[in-house]
Amino acid sequence: MRALVVGSGAREHALALALARTVDVVVQRPEAERCPFVGPVPGGQRIDASSEPPEAIEADLVVVGPEEPLVAGLADRLRALGRLVLGPGAAGAVLEGSKAAMKRLLAEAKVPTARFGIFDDLAEAKAFLRELPGPFVVKTDGLAAGKGVLVTEDPAEAEADLAAKLSGAAFGDAGRTVVVEEGLSGREVSLMVLTDGTRVVPLPPARDAKRLLDGDQGPNTGGMGAYSPVPDFEHRTQDQVLDQIVEPILAALRRRAVDYRGVLYVGLMLTVDGPMVLELNVRLGDPEAQVVLPRVPEDLAGLFAEAASGRLRSDPRPSPDAAVGVVLAAPGYPRAPETGGVLEGLEEAAALPGVTVLHGATARGDDGRVRATGGRVLTLVGQGPDLGQARARAYEALATVHLPGGQWRTDIARPEEEDR
Ligand code: ATP
Repeated sequence: MRALVVGSGAREHALALALARTVDVVVQRPEAERCPFVGPVPGGQRIDASSEPPEAIEADLVVVGPEEPLVAGLADRLRALGRLVLGPGAAGAVLEGSKAAMKRLLAEAKVPTARFGIFDDLAEAKAFLRELPGPFVVKTDGLAAGKGVLVTEDPAEAEADLAAKLSGAAFGDAGRTVVVEEGLSGREVSLMVLTDGTRVVPLPPARDAKRLLDGDQGPNTGGMGAYSPVPDFEHRTQDQVLDQIVEPILAALRRRAVDYRGVLYVGLMLTVDGPMVLELNVRLGDPEAQVVLPRVPEDLAGLFAEAASGRLRSDPRPSPDAAVGVVLAAPGYPRAPETGGVLEGLEEAAALPGVTVLHGATARGDDGRVRATGGRVLTLVGQGPDLGQARARAYEALATVHLPGGQWRTDIARPEEEDR
């Protein structure tokens, strides 16, 4: 079997490695010029890189990693060519491409989520904001790479943000419609499920760290680390999320005749009133995938193929092992990442037991050295029988690699974090 992974972040590297456990050849199609450095795969399988358009690459199964190509209809185009694709078409990907469309669907499906309004008029948006108790949340309707959300206690800051977004100054057309929400509080958890549109296989839950600095301080990022399992997310809460959130969303999609085959990512806040939806994504999270995929049973490709063909039958049990992923980011990330820094110690880190070095934004130069080519450079994943041992391995790997000016959080899966 030949599988194609579209995308070039550490999430796609994790996907390629997980698929290579059972697939003969994995072809990776990076976005833009960034080409991940993919190391050898245990077992002798191959991971090839290709610069052909995804439509031109022969594959028995295509897995689309990032959201942009899904929102732009890549899965529809590939299906029209007869390919087996894991990832929704444009009609399903609108759940991530438009937060207004997502909130309308949640309201229709009676799924618990923060109280909200959808606006393209500044005066109306401000009037709604004044009715809310605060904290206040202002979100761009369209894609903004995780940077379109403001959460603030300060109404003046929320109003200024509304003006910047609605005028198009802050995010162009993506911000000309906004969702204004009531702020929720609680701990967050990411539950990703695999679905063929009707049946559902939950993947192990994960928690990511969105802020740049320890203790959830500093600016929002694409994600600085993640861990799985999540001890405070109990099994019965997961069952409740599947019944009261995932099933109604899929039923609402079916009523709209949307054939959703892929991953549905539910970003949840565990509030005192129960789990509530913060966001939906139409693909695996990054960095959540890096800690979740090593915990799903061996034949991930088979499971993906079942969902992609509309015949999801397997009921896999997650591995009892824990996984912790720590992101090594370039200096200047997230505002202005500095690229070109030389990475040292990669091979030594990869040779540590229970460690996987995943490349998010790197390239090997003509001189044979591996350099940073973007913001989130590596995810260092440690696996072990519990979170403590997995965490120790991830941080041992982090201490073994070096990137001048590199940034990372020291508190991913820290036990005090657990008890907070
Ligand atoms: P990303 O791409 O990083 O997942 P996004 O642009 O899709 O982000 P959201 O996930 O909707 O945006 O929001 C980002 C973060 O903002 C959430 O993970 C959460 O921490 C916070 N947030 C969003 N909505 C709320 C809310 N209603 N109350 C409190 N915090 C919120």
